[in-house]
Amino acid sequence: MSPLLEVHKLSRFFGGLRAVNDLSFTVSSGEIFGIIGPNGAGKSTAVNLVSGVTKPTSGKVRFQGTDVTGQPPHKLVQYGLARTFQSTTVFGNCTVEENCRRGSYLARYPGFFHSFFSTSKAGEMRQASDSRVAEVLEWLDLHRVRNVRAADLPYGAQKTLGMAISLMAWPKLLMLDEPVAGLSAAEADNVRDTIRKIRAEGISVVVIDHNMRFMAGLCDRILVLHHGQELAHGLPQDVLSDPNVIEAYLGR
Ligand code: ADP
Ligand code: MG
Repeated sequence: MSPLLEVHKLSRFFGGLRAVNDLSFTVSSGEIFGIIGPNGAGKSTAVNLVSGVTKPTSGKVRFQGTDVTGQPPHKLVQYGLARTFQSTTVFGNCTVEENCRRGSYLARYPGFFHSFFSTSKAGEMRQASDSRVAEVLEWLDLHRVRNVRAADLPYGAQKTLGMAISLMAWPKLLMLDEPVAGLSAAEADNVRDTIRKIRAEGISVVVIDHNMRFMAGLCDRILVLHHGQELAHGLPQDVLSDPNVIEAYLGR
């Protein structure tokens, strides 16, 4: 069986800067795959390339065997490849429930929000979506706060809401760029549990962070990025003990 996600010799240069350089990796079904590296290593650029936010200078992205290189994010969501965005996509004045509903429509129909509601299918889709909202809120333990304004949630719960919004579109792969940045240790533990719950439903997760301990306890495999290139790649314990990683990253 071919892997869910195949990244092949992906590069993105900004002028003379090689932000991501000749990067290859695969992610299997049901896997939690980590990308780790210091600030500026190219982690966000890598996620942006795979999720269609940034176009590659060269290289290929395949999802479930289909070449999806350079496709825009809303197309990739339809293939089952979703990602979280920064808190700007959480509608602060809307409730948690309303955020999920809106997030789902915007992910699928960017720019077509209004025309979508005028179609005859809207009622049907809305029902399907209502049951999905209830399901996802229960699943991520947000059902108790479903009527709370997003802006009134603690920061950790806002991060979880960001994941809930992405899950509305039934992804097969979810990419999370620094989901625990700025969180307390307890909130980070919560997010880690949530990521495990997501995987338990068969959804693969690509997670980015720079904290080796957090990542080693969460990921099945880890890729270490350094100056846009792969420095090491494998099981967490092997990556942690790799002399190149210790020298370049841990031994800073
Ligand atoms: P990380 O997420 O690992 O901290 P990034 O992928 O954000 O790293 O950035 C990698 C390098 O690419 C950095 O040197 C950054 O300044 C540069 N970079 C990222 N995006 C752009 C852009 N849009 N234009 C120019 N340089 C960029
Ligand atoms: Mg980043």
